[in-house]
Amino acid sequence: MSVRTSKEYPNLMPNAVNVLALFAHPDDAEFLCAGTLALFAARGARIHIATLTAGDCGSTTLPAARISNVRQKEASRSATLIGAQYHCLKSKDLLVFYDRAHLNKVMELVRQTNPTLVLTHSPVDYMIDHETVSRLCQSACFGAMAPNFNTGARRPAPPLKAVPHLYYADAFGGRDILGHRIKSGISVDISATLKRKEEMLACHESQQAWLKSQQEIPETVATMRNMAKAAGKQAGFRWAEGFRQHLGQGFPPSNLLQELLGSIVR
Ligand SMILES: [Zn+2]
Repeated sequence: MSVRTSKEYPNLMPNAVNVLALFAHPDDAEFLCAGTLALFAARGARIHIATLTAGDCGSTTLPAARISNVRQKEASRSATLIGAQYHCLKSKDLLVFYDRAHLNKVMELVRQTNPTLVLTHSPVDYMIDHETVSRLCQSACFGAMAPNFNTGARRPAPPLKAVPHLYYADAFGGRDILGHRIKSGISVDISATLKRKEEMLACHESQQAWLKSQQEIPETVATMRNMAKAAGKQAGFRWAEGFRQHLGQGFPPSNLLQELLGSIVR
């Protein structure tokens, strides 16, 4: 189901805008950037949501294969709410490494989805899987144009024609492992899509019990709303998602997020 509503969103984008949200675990994208993804979907962009793992450690009661199966279904259902396609790269929780095998998978995904804009984890985060995905994503975006990087795929996608614009979502909780606050550089007003973000997060029913027992997060949607409120406060919006742009050598320096979404980005 698509949420494209040209009346509500007059500035529809050309269909050539592909957005890839690449995160470590099912539900990360929903917490960190689903409001922004819904804004892009409503404007006609093609959205891909990918996770490195199927979330095999996210249960105290179900075995790994069962919870992986449940969580992939939850992630697919969530993606469907904005007409997005879900991809799982089938790595294991806590075993996401910066190595050749992982970079091959991530590079192949980046080439297949041919993104204009990529959203991923903060390079500094509370969890090493998240930080590793951030580094893998950075390398894949940088190297996806290089024809000599062979991913070993049976039917490899062609190299990209340009390095995509890369944005890092705020770290969960907005702090690094030493408790220091990480300030967003760019804020997106998600007031128009907060409800959709809530619906997407609510698809991850299996995580309610897990986050309560493991991280003392009592209620996922309420936690997400608190995060969106805090991010909004930084930028003068009611609800927001925060990002920082990768501006290192070789990456496009223009703020495409703002060019595409307009004044709801500060
Ligand atoms: Zn995660």
